[in-house]
Amino acid sequence: MTKHIYLFGNNHAEGSAEMKNLLGGKGANLAEMTNLGISVPPGFTITTDVCNYYYDNNLNYPSDLDNQMNDALRQTEVVMGKGFGSTDNPLLFSVRSGARQSMPGMMETVLNIGLTSKTIPGLIAKTGNKRFVYDSYRRLITMYADVVMEKAAGVETKSRKGIRHQLETILFDHKEEKGYSEDADLSGDDWIVVSDKFKKQIKEQLGEEFPDDTYAQLWGSVTAVFKSWNGKRAISYRKIENIPEEWGTAVNVQAMVFGNTGKGSATGVAFTRNPATGENVFYGEWLQNAQGEDVVAGLRTPNPLNESTKTDDNQDALSLESFLPQVYNDLDAIRIKLEKHYTDMQDIEFTIEEGRLWMLQTRSGKRNGPAAIKIAVDMFHENLINKERAVLRVSPNQIDELLHPMVDPEEETRSELLAKGLPAGPGGATGQIVFTADDAEAWKKENRVVVLVRDETSPEDVHGMHAAAAILTSKGGMTSHAALVARGWGKCCIVGCNSLQINTDEKTLTVNGVVLKEGDSLTLNGTAGKVYRGKLGLLNADPGTNKEYAELMTWADEIRTLKVRTNAERPEDSVLARSFGAQGIGLCRTEHMFFDPKRILAVRKMILAGSEEARRTAVMELLPYQRDDFRGILEAMNDLPVTIRLLDPPLHEFMPQNNEQINELADELNISADAIRIRISNLHELNPMLGHRGCRLGIAYPEITEMQSRAIFEATAELIKNDINVFPEVMVPLVGTYTEFENQEAIVRKIADAVMEENSVKFNYLVGTMIELPRAALTADEIAQKAEFFSFGTNDLTQTTYGFSRDDIGGFLPDYLEQKVLTHDPFQSLDQSGVGQLVKMGVDKGRSIRENLKIGICGEHGGDPTSIDFCHRIGLDYVSCSPYRVPVARLAAAHSAIINA
Ligand code: ADP
Ligand code: MG
Ligand code: MG
Repeated sequence: MTKHIYLFGNNHAEGSAEMKNLLGGKGANLAEMTNLGISVPPGFTITTDVCNYYYDNNLNYPSDLDNQMNDALRQTEVVMGKGFGSTDNPLLFSVRSGARQSMPGMMETVLNIGLTSKTIPGLIAKTGNKRFVYDSYRRLITMYADVVMEKAAGVETKSRKGIRHQLETILFDHKEEKGYSEDADLSGDDWIVVSDKFKKQIKEQLGEEFPDDTYAQLWGSVTAVFKSWNGKRAISYRKIENIPEEWGTAVNVQAMVFGNTGKGSATGVAFTRNPATGENVFYGEWLQNAQGEDVVAGLRTPNPLNESTKTDDNQDALSLESFLPQVYNDLDAIRIKLEKHYTDMQDIEFTIEEGRLWMLQTRSGKRNGPAAIKIAVDMFHENLINKERAVLRVSPNQIDELLHPMVDPEEETRSELLAKGLPAGPGGATGQIVFTADDAEAWKKENRVVVLVRDETSPEDVHGMHAAAAILTSKGGMTSHAALVARGWGKCCIVGCNSLQINTDEKTLTVNGVVLKEGDSLTLNGTAGKVYRGKLGLLNADPGTNKEYAELMTWADEIRTLKVRTNAERPEDSVLARSFGAQGIGLCRTEHMFFDPKRILAVRKMILAGSEEARRTAVMELLPYQRDDFRGILEAMNDLPVTIRLLDPPLHEFMPQNNEQINELADELNISADAIRIRISNLHELNPMLGHRGCRLGIAYPEITEMQSRAIFEATAELIKNDINVFPEVMVPLVGTYTEFENQEAIVRKIADAVMEENSVKFNYLVGTMIELPRAALTADEIAQKAEFFSFGTNDLTQTTYGFSRDDIGGFLPDYLEQKVLTHDPFQSLDQSGVGQLVKMGVDKGRSIRENLKIGICGEHGGDPTSIDFCHRIGLDYVSCSPYRVPVARLAAAHSAIINA
């Protein structure tokens, strides 16, 4: 018999935190808390296997699920001393989704299941609280109609407006009519009237009665949760977060506890540490006389949990700490217990029923990069975790957040503040405002940078939130949907900016008398919650000032074995990369230096030269420029190796594009424009990526290789004479045969010898090659006889292995990803099973000849954590990436060393 259901309650649970795959995150942690002796309302979890069974079997359940469920219901009734459907002491349930990985707001929950015309009178008699019972009832009706009868059933309402919205309108009208300002003003009789109206509206709009049967309510809700796994919102979220479809969701059925019985009851959410800063303070929000979803929905502004986390704006609000000190202390004790047990910051949900505390959820809390770093380092010093754990706690992308721009503080002091909200996601951003998620996505596609402005966000908005550079909402707190999602992505975000009046229909935003239209610019300081009009300057982040960052990176550097170099072609970039921890340059592309307006003329002269003699003269004009460039870079990287690649791109890229430029060039060189045109058309290639480029240039025009080598070595000689340690590594591009390399290597060495002799100095240098053609990988053992190092150029290697043009892949890649022909863009993350085989073969063959062959990677993949892990596993010496990715790569390399140890 397959066990479909796992019970929890009464300090004992059948599941545990280890069982997330089967029980989902929520269920596994409810079990774990129960086993820890924390008071959790009893209940049970239906496994993710049942979800998969359901989808594999035409939306049918395993035949024995019904029996197992009835058993579990009976056992839960015993623990609670109440009966499901009982007319004198009814037990109510919540049905809650729970995937392996939390998907905030994506999935469904139904509360107060089990209220019917039969059980309602019993519950009123038992509690003497009509208002509470009908408040719960109208909530059940609303959630059930929305989740089960409309969304899961795929039924559209008659008026095509969402049923939840319609019911909310009925409630709103009732309040207006009665002159009430808040939900709390409604009496029991009011709620009776409202819930009757709700049921009529449902019947009329959805064509079905709201079920007056406890089991119908329960099964309807369970099925709706399973169905929500394949809802539109869940699918789009899974896509963004790369969550596999096969994971499925579990369903939790749990006895209800009530935060809405009166003033002595409450509900709240909290983080065991501040998720925005990482500071070790208890941080959360609560609402009196409310049920759980009220806090997240942002309908009422929640109160702060304690005194110490109050801000200027909520000084007068009642904290739980001062209202119910004993309960607050109990909660604080649980906070400490959970952190010790999970050794991580937790995100918790709780409900207080008549002064009694119940825990409803715990999970590892989402945090932004700076907070992740602070929490990891603090927890090490608190002896909760070791260095390796601390390093693993911070994801490489969270490091990236620390390097994110912030609003220039000077410009900020000079600018007038437009509005202020809650700092939900750090960093600065500036962009044009849009009012809908669809617009955000569309504008982003046109390469515009946008700020998404909403009253509040919902899971329907995630695609637009993803596309936006920043998110700004007028409602909601630090645990609202917008805040949670933005924090997860490390995106700049401000929520609860009350002074904004947003008109989505007219696409205008009014703030303190200022009216902004779609497309107008705003600047957000997400770290301070400040909003400015127009475009303020952004400054690049300086992680150097962050003490915890520095400490964590020291640990990462101790742990990792893979070195990290940078791709840089200017001294400034080299200095920056060095400050980020780069251990050398892995790729210095020389062609960038050719485009300078002063030099391009000499380059064009060289290309247009009729004779070798004329070409040599033209090339030599470039020598002083290149020597200066190399001197600057080598000097900035003193004591560290610098790999310089010889000229790589096809020559036509250097030629003028239009008639005006051609005529100008003709004048300057005193030749005819037609002669230039003829040369350009001679250079034209059908397939330039596979054409006359890379070492093919140096072989046809050896004087180019000679000039570049001379520039490198003369700079080297000069620096060595000045006691500066430099280690040039000359790299021959696009080699496919041993003989190509041999040809170029001979030239480089000849020039090196000459320069040493001329300058009477000795210096060290290496000559190696890029492995970026399949043939080079296949014959790496031959090439390694001469080459002193390899650097995998995985951009070209991916291009030539797949036969995908890098420049044209955009035409079909979206279809490939959509149809799952490819799971990712192979130019972003290395294709390990295909291209990776060639890389591995290159490494093995190369080292079979030269045991200590130095090997790195210099393609875009050098900054991608998954690809970096691959590089670590196959034994590369280093990865090379852009300066801003260097810290990310250092951390990713440390992760690989720990995980693969
Ligand atoms: P989500 O994943 O969207 O947070 P949950 O399943 O956690 O959904 O539930 C939504 C809200 O309902 C939460 O605030 C939760 O604490 C509350 N809730 C869920 N089950 C119960 C219960 N048995 N008793 C009281 N409140 C509950
Ligand atoms: Mg929850
Ligand atoms: Mg290349």
